[in-house]
Amino acid sequence: MTASDPHSYRDPAQPSIRHIEFDFTFDFRNRTTHGRARYSLDRPSDGRLFLDTHAIQIRRAQTGETPVPWSLGEADPILGQRLALQFPPGTAEFEIDFQLPPTARALQWMDASQTAGGRHPFMYSQCQAIHARSLFPCQDTPAVRFTYRARLHVPKPLVGLMAAAPEGQSTQGDLGVFSFHMPQPIPSYLFGLAVGDLTWRDISARCRIYAEPPLIEAAAWEFAETEQMLQIAEGLYGPYLWDRYDLLMLPRSFPYGGMENPRLTFANAIFLTGDRADTSLVAHELAHSWTGNLVTNASWEDFWLNEGWTTYAEFRICERLYGREYVELAAVRDRNLLFEDYERFRPTPQYTQLKFPMQGVDPEETFSRVPYYKGLFLLMLIEQSVGRETFDAFIHGYILDHAFRSLTTEQFLDYLRHNLPQAFDRVAIEEWIYQPGYPADGPVFRSRAFEAVEVAAAAFIADGRLTQAQLAGWSPDQIVLFLQQMPETLPPAACRQLDRVLDMPHCQRFVTQSLFYSLAIRSGYRAVWPRAEALLLASGSRLSLMRLFRAVAQAPWTRSKARALYERARRGYHPLTQQEIERLLVEEGL
Ligand SMILES: [Zn+2]
Repeated sequence: MTASDPHSYRDPAQPSIRHIEFDFTFDFRNRTTHGRARYSLDRPSDGRLFLDTHAIQIRRAQTGETPVPWSLGEADPILGQRLALQFPPGTAEFEIDFQLPPTARALQWMDASQTAGGRHPFMYSQCQAIHARSLFPCQDTPAVRFTYRARLHVPKPLVGLMAAAPEGQSTQGDLGVFSFHMPQPIPSYLFGLAVGDLTWRDISARCRIYAEPPLIEAAAWEFAETEQMLQIAEGLYGPYLWDRYDLLMLPRSFPYGGMENPRLTFANAIFLTGDRADTSLVAHELAHSWTGNLVTNASWEDFWLNEGWTTYAEFRICERLYGREYVELAAVRDRNLLFEDYERFRPTPQYTQLKFPMQGVDPEETFSRVPYYKGLFLLMLIEQSVGRETFDAFIHGYILDHAFRSLTTEQFLDYLRHNLPQAFDRVAIEEWIYQPGYPADGPVFRSRAFEAVEVAAAAFIADGRLTQAQLAGWSPDQIVLFLQQMPETLPPAACRQLDRVLDMPHCQRFVTQSLFYSLAIRSGYRAVWPRAEALLLASGSRLSLMRLFRAVAQAPWTRSKARALYERARRGYHPLTQQEIERLLVEEGL
């Protein structure tokens, strides 16, 4: 299929990359990377081949012993530079030697002091959406899939890890050499690697958790249900096709909750809360093994196909594991989070469409919960309208018919029209996808647990009444919902009471912390400042972090502190988080 991707220089008329053999050497002292990649194409090329690059220094390109002439185009702030290679007739294999700067957008380098162990540095990659091109020249579009082998050269005693099958390790002088093989074809955005002081625990025959030594026990306990979740997902979607499902715990500065790199989900250590409140993260990431990694959005304009379907599967897995009440409450929570983004996108309502044109738009700038939760609610609505049994049969066929392929929203709609036409009679599907806002037929969720929250929140807002006894037996999500029910601001005395009753000084859950401290800052409850500041300095996944940073940048009493706080925190933030906070500070005139 040849749908064009607005975020790639790839020319669909040219051959596609089919396999790559990588060699990477990581220099932790200078934070530079030397790479060599040998490419195989799906058919011989007689002419030019365009690849995506971002700030990569090309040293040499050749086919066999013959040098390949190359040129780099003008640098576009979003897309980077087009690398044009000029091949002799019949070229199907070629090699590129390159160097990456310390600022390579896909990599975060961390000092020992920024890790949980504090003894060794750490580095990891994040390629989604369009950052693989800063790690190696490639056709950086989800429409192209390739297999690969890779060798990572890392300083001893660090461990190299990839979202691929390990193929042994050796040493070369003072370097450890770790080899990997990825036999299933992946799009470039699912390329993932990490280097650090890592250890592991097996939690089943095919699930292992990797983490820094001080985190390993907590991580193995927190995510002990992973194998069970995998089995539920197989019931929903069909057999798991990636052999192993392992998890890697990343530092709190990771800009996302998790990233579904195949075989090895990258998960933020912020979710080690000690009460399994956020295990739905793993249900989500492992569901991507089907929706996203197997059936892939053709471009970032179709991102909701990855995220909407995966969030739907996450809910189905959690329903089987934790019951209907749990997911009804989570649906109310997530609808509130969705509306928070609608509020943020008030000046750009097109970003609340499931699909909108992204020519000239940075996918990082539009990253939000819309593809996740608006996509989820559309799929829930379709399920409700046709019945679960019918919908499940459709899902099985959908996965089977598109495995290891990419598709556009329009191809999905054609498939839906063909295989589930009755869905269109009952749901305004095109309005859900192509119109901003939240359609009137959106699903309504009720839950007894939520009603208890509503009653308590209304009483508290009316007369400030709230006791610990009222909260006895509440789930962590009920606390989140309670905070979401609060008005924009409260009297500082009410914040103080919430602080005490919710026992915020001991709260470990980042979404709860972010909601409470944002409310407290907007309300001028000054006692929270040292804790809010410490939380921002410890950083965390991007959407919750941005909520809190926005409150600091907007509240009259904290506004003047925002820039200085950012300067102190910046070094610990991921480059994507830095970029987003810098944009926020400019917007706020700071
Ligand atoms: Zn996802």
